[in-house]
Amino acid sequence: MTVQLQGCAAPAAQDLAAPAVRHERGQHEVFCGLTGIVWLHRKIQDAFFLVVGSRTCAHLIQSAAGVMIFAEPRFGTAIMEEKDLAGLTDANDELDRIVTQLIARRPDIKLLFLVGSCPSEVIKLDLSRAALRLSKRFMPQVRVLSYTGSGLETTFTQGEDACLASLVPELPASTSTETSLLVVGSLADVVEDQFIRIFDALGIKSVQFLPPRNSASLPSVGPNTKFLLAQPFLADTARELENRGATRLSAPFPLGVEGTTAWLRAAADAFGVDAALFDKVTQPARSRAERALENFRQDLAGRRIFFFPDSQLEIPLARFLSRELSMQLVEVGTPYLHREHLAEELKLLPAGVAITEGQDVDLQLDRCRAARPDLAVCGLGLANPLEAEGMTTKWAIELVFTPIQGYDQASDLAELFARPLVRRAKLVA
Ligand code: SF4
Repeated sequence: MTVQLQGCAAPAAQDLAAPAVRHERGQHEVFCGLTGIVWLHRKIQDAFFLVVGSRTCAHLIQSAAGVMIFAEPRFGTAIMEEKDLAGLTDANDELDRIVTQLIARRPDIKLLFLVGSCPSEVIKLDLSRAALRLSKRFMPQVRVLSYTGSGLETTFTQGEDACLASLVPELPASTSTETSLLVVGSLADVVEDQFIRIFDALGIKSVQFLPPRNSASLPSVGPNTKFLLAQPFLADTARELENRGATRLSAPFPLGVEGTTAWLRAAADAFGVDAALFDKVTQPARSRAERALENFRQDLAGRRIFFFPDSQLEIPLARFLSRELSMQLVEVGTPYLHREHLAEELKLLPAGVAITEGQDVDLQLDRCRAARPDLAVCGLGLANPLEAEGMTTKWAIELVFTPIQGYDQASDLAELFARPLVRRAKLVA
């Protein structure tokens, strides 16, 4: 094993009243859960992500993140060589040696994630036991956890779910008798700061975030914790939190003006915030965001959009684009549909919308070609071929890397969809 430093469970479905959903299973085009490291390592600033994998895994995260030549990186790959895969060396010994070297060289690391991959799973390297062993050795200086980012059967946002789910058992038990709010899911710091200000103005003072910005500020959790999901792809994390006694607040996701208002209102209602105070606090930002969205309505209204399943953000995005920008939904594909977590979103979609869960990429490409939408939202692998066929595309992965939640980002989110259409119009002209 050598180390190289560089600059992936379908959720349970419930039988709630919701639009009809087409289920597909076949060849699909997604990145694996290792991709989540790209945004998670920026969020938890004293964490290091050590992928235990192959050169392919190293290349994937290197190209997803860009090469950070001048930065001291906080992710890397312990590359399994042929002799590791053939069982000619003890992979656990090799892993211990690499981790020891890494921790000696990087005293800034306080939280180390061992991230499993397809190769580590093929040789059945038990990273949870390795994490326990290494944690015992390096605590209290470094806490070592593990999760898997592997998989061709998963989609790339599940990496964040697996990572956060691995953190939940480490959260301190809340001893407070007061109800606290936990916001769950990676948000850009700028977005987090905006929400902190709004919650504060609403009088909700005890607000914590998972993931935290550093491992010393892990949020506490217990029966008095109410949590709001900020991302729609956190089924395992939510289950772990519920196992710790926390209660999920049902809400749409904070995308667009309507989604953000409903998301904040779910918290406000749970904390008994007066309706007049809620309006007073949120109205200025709502009006500002609505005015900013007007700039994009002309470019987007009436345009037909087709979502390939990729980020698991598709349903909330479709709701935002159809209701706030009058786009027409040709098909909304999503890798998994968690009916319970998305219940409030599904209610807001237009009647008769075509939703597909899972993917058979050839069939979906056929439908997309037949429909000739104005815009197709898809993974990187499909974008170039579709563009070559004259279609306009948007990379779904960009929506995870960009701050898009909250009032002040609503117009940025609209612009992400307007930009490729404007560019195409200019090219045609
Ligand atoms: S799919 Fe498997 S082998 Fe490929 S990069 Fe992801 S973890 Fe590595």
